[in-house]
Amino acid sequence: MNSSREKNRVVVVGGGLGGLATACTLAARGYAVTLCDKNPWVGGKAAVLAEQGFRFDMGPTILTIPGVLKRIYAEAGRDLEQHLDLVPLDPQWRSFFDDGTTLDLFADVARMRATLDAYAPGSGSGQGYARFMDLSERLHRISDDYFFWRNVGGLKDMFDPRRGLSLSIVKEVLGMRPGRSVAGTVRSFVPDKRAAQMLDHFTQYVGSSPDASPAVLCGIAHMQSDEGVWYPRGGTGAVPRALASLAVDLGVEIRTRTPIRRIIVEGGRVQGVETSTGETITAGAVVSNSDSVRTHRELVDGQPRDRFLRRRRYEPACSGVVLYLGLDKRYEQLIHHNFVFSHDPHEEFEMIYRRGEPAPDPTCYVCAPAVTEPGVAPPGGESLYVLVHTPYLRPHHDWSKMFAPYRRRIIEKLESTAGLKDLERHIVFERALTPQDINDRYHVLDGAIYGLASHGTFLGAFKPANRSPDVEGLYLAGGSAHPGPGMPMVMMSGWIAADCVDRDGVVGRSTAPAQPAACSV
Ligand SMILES: Cc1cc2nc3c(=O)[nH]c(=O)nc-3n(C[C@H](O)[C@H](O)[C@H](O)COP(=O)(O)OP(=O)(O)OC[C@H]3O[C@@H](n4cnc5c(N)ncnc54)[C@H](O)[C@@H]3O)c2cc1C
Repeated sequence: MNSSREKNRVVVVGGGLGGLATACTLAARGYAVTLCDKNPWVGGKAAVLAEQGFRFDMGPTILTIPGVLKRIYAEAGRDLEQHLDLVPLDPQWRSFFDDGTTLDLFADVARMRATLDAYAPGSGSGQGYARFMDLSERLHRISDDYFFWRNVGGLKDMFDPRRGLSLSIVKEVLGMRPGRSVAGTVRSFVPDKRAAQMLDHFTQYVGSSPDASPAVLCGIAHMQSDEGVWYPRGGTGAVPRALASLAVDLGVEIRTRTPIRRIIVEGGRVQGVETSTGETITAGAVVSNSDSVRTHRELVDGQPRDRFLRRRRYEPACSGVVLYLGLDKRYEQLIHHNFVFSHDPHEEFEMIYRRGEPAPDPTCYVCAPAVTEPGVAPPGGESLYVLVHTPYLRPHHDWSKMFAPYRRRIIEKLESTAGLKDLERHIVFERALTPQDINDRYHVLDGAIYGLASHGTFLGAFKPANRSPDVEGLYLAGGSAHPGPGMPMVMMSGWIAADCVDRDGVVGRSTAPAQPAACSV
């Protein structure tokens, strides 16, 4: 057995975007970091499939809030623009409804208001949208002030104890509309049911039902309109590539094909990790980018595990079926990001989130990246990516049998609601991921794409804190830790975990920290 003796090392378990952000931030601040991933690649769910002239981003495709990436680069004194070419996309989405209409989502609120006035005349939806966006902006600001860029595991962590619980803070908390859901809030502003369905969909970024998610998540709408939707040239896979290259440049040791089977804890304190081959890597701190529940169930023993698992009920977010379809043509009605909506969102979400069965009439997210970067497919073709949210894995789900009929259903839906005529005939290359594949590839909780569900209209937004209250020297980063899932949030999670390690002084620096660049985020 090989054993290193470096107490002043931080081990990051998992090289998803959260783990990469942790590694870069810590290395920029002068810490020695080893990052281990069980897979042969880093980036986790932000993986890439390239075959027969088609290139697909396999997981995330919609990049929002690029300010988070900028801040991570700024830690190292670098400028994001020199490392990633980000292309703005506006309209941000196109929505297809089963009444045959389409509705584009624009970043500019005034333009969107006018669009809605023309789309649903006399319904008041344009004015309602503008008022909804005012609320969304307020909720976004509250998130910035109390929730983001800091370690939060529950309501009390949002407040600075030195400032006490002042009247203005109580007002802010009430401003979050505790007890109200996203779906209810959206409909209290926007009467047109198609426009409301489109706005509900921001909660799909966190894999949760708009009927059960807290109203504070309506802040996502303003985060997206304010900072935009971006396409990294080269695909979203360019993000982990850029972060991995920054990490290596800063001296991070990256070890792929290195599953971690145990986090070594002695006397309530982290001592390092043990790999699947029995190698011990000694460390003063461990940041787990693996799912937070599985980290505790599978990598931590005894009382700390029991305390974490007893703290609350951990419900996985939704899973999904993804089709990667190489086409020999392009469908002109598609823009880069598209939603092909179900007939009835309440019925759809009831099936996915309450009954735990795939929705018979699903909403399909469709990405057509050749619109922005034709080189993703052979000339004239398209690398069509279709994502349908499904329930997280239940014991009776057998996707080896469920996949074929559901794929047929999805293709029919795309043909009927989005007019992708003869789609089946134009598929020249095809791969897919089922919830079971997602579970096995990324080592997540019951196939969940987005970590833990945000259900609960009072406390649904809270996830396990980045600093473990159960084990000294253990930190959590990623979609199932604070502040939650999605590319920007997991990278922020990684930054917060790194910042906690730095503040706690549990390990010493090995080099002088980089000179951070100015960053307004
Ligand atoms: C199909 C799909 C579509 C999505 N669409 C979007 C989108 O459009 N926009 C968006 O913002 N987000 C989207 N997301 C969500 C986003 O991809 C995730 O929230 C984010 O990438 C998760 O990052 P993470 O840091 O939590 O880690 P993950 O990507 O989950 O990576 C964790 C890593 O840890 C490794 N690991 C786990 N356990 C161990 C162990 N014991 N030892 C070693 N390694 C281990 C795994 O191999 C994995 O590489 C999508 C996700 C999927 C799957």
